[in-house]
Amino acid sequence: MGDNSELFKRASEVIPGGVDSPVRAFGSVGGHPYFVARAEGCYVWDVEGRRYVDYVQSWGASILGHADRRVIEAVRSAAGDGTSYGAPTEREVLLAEAIRERVPSCQKVRLVNSGTEATMTAVRLARGATGRDRVIKFAGCYHGHADALLAAGGSGIATLGLPGSAGVPASAVADTVVVPYNVVPDVAEDVACVIVEPVAANMGLVPPAPGFLEGLRDACDQAGALLIFDEVITGFRVGSGGAQAMFGVRPDLSCLGKVIGGGLPLAAFGGRADVMDLLAPDGPVYQAGTLSGNPLATAAGLAVLAALDDGAYRMLAGRAEELGAWLTDVITEAGLAVQVPVVGPLLGVFFSEAPVTDYDSAKAADGDRYARFFHQMLDRGIALPPSPFEALFPSLAHPKDELERTADLAAAAARAIA
Ligand SMILES: *Cc1c(COP(=O)(O)O)cnc(C)c1O
Repeated sequence: MGDNSELFKRASEVIPGGVDSPVRAFGSVGGHPYFVARAEGCYVWDVEGRRYVDYVQSWGASILGHADRRVIEAVRSAAGDGTSYGAPTEREVLLAEAIRERVPSCQKVRLVNSGTEATMTAVRLARGATGRDRVIKFAGCYHGHADALLAAGGSGIATLGLPGSAGVPASAVADTVVVPYNVVPDVAEDVACVIVEPVAANMGLVPPAPGFLEGLRDACDQAGALLIFDEVITGFRVGSGGAQAMFGVRPDLSCLGKVIGGGLPLAAFGGRADVMDLLAPDGPVYQAGTLSGNPLATAAGLAVLAALDDGAYRMLAGRAEELGAWLTDVITEAGLAVQVPVVGPLLGVFFSEAPVTDYDSAKAADGDRYARFFHQMLDRGIALPPSPFEALFPSLAHPKDELERTADLAAAAARAIA
């Protein structure tokens, strides 16, 4: 049997911060992460043999729950035929067709390995298509870690060219404009694209205000700029057509990830055929990838999409709504102010009196209280995201009785911190 503390000590000596992605560290909640030994359905087991009901679900990559048999079988069978060829395969065509069928704005699709690649290339493509450089993004929206999109997420007012990370030259973000979420910005005629999470899920969960997405569409049309929806979280999660179907706004380009890979490294971007045709080898905008459209990842993606029908989405949304209402009730009964926004199957938890509508109000929520709630829940065997700026991802493998148990334990956790 392993030991979480011992492993974290060893990890920290050889891996910066002990983790391969900073969100896995317990930086904003304190303590150190549990090391996962295995997972199945709604559960993960750590190396000490402790079981948790998992609401992280690979940050949304597992919508069917962990180790779903259909996905495992698809991957196992694909692996027997070789793991990568560097030549096209039939499953890439099938997956691109399956994406286009569900997300009609994606007239053409290219598969990549990560959401970061998808957004980075979508922005390059928008710049190539318009011959313009400027990019508008929204504070608190995360679009992966490409230089140009790591501009400050922290400012409530329009901020021009402030790098959000050391090592990002000012020149890389000189054309990135950061504006507040849920307010339609002025889009000038030198803007190549506006990139947005149509439901923001990386500053906690923040739904779009009525008219916000429509307003972006109009502003982009007026200026001749492209509208990019970063649906890396919302794609195939809030419904088979993503947030663009839910809100009835058609972007020029979409970025997809997480769910579409079924827990394997796969993401995609797609959009208007006339724009997508500007990509190499047919067009002048370069993009490539040794492992893109990987045979194991496409097998997993196809298995996941095949398992997601309208009934599945109805069940996910219904359960999230119930869980959201229960959490609101039990935490409020404990005397704590809480907001539990729910969009389709996504939930957020903000310890805040007022609804959260943008990054400033998200940061104004009580992060220390979230940290204490997180640890109370973890001690009771419920794994929430280890940061107040992330969403919860209940899966199809979270049975109703486990959600009820989560709410009961949340009542005890809330009383303990009140
Ligand atoms: C996770 C995420 C990304 C980055 O995807 P990676 O696969 O981690 O590179 C981009 N955009 C959004 C909205 C995300 O949630």
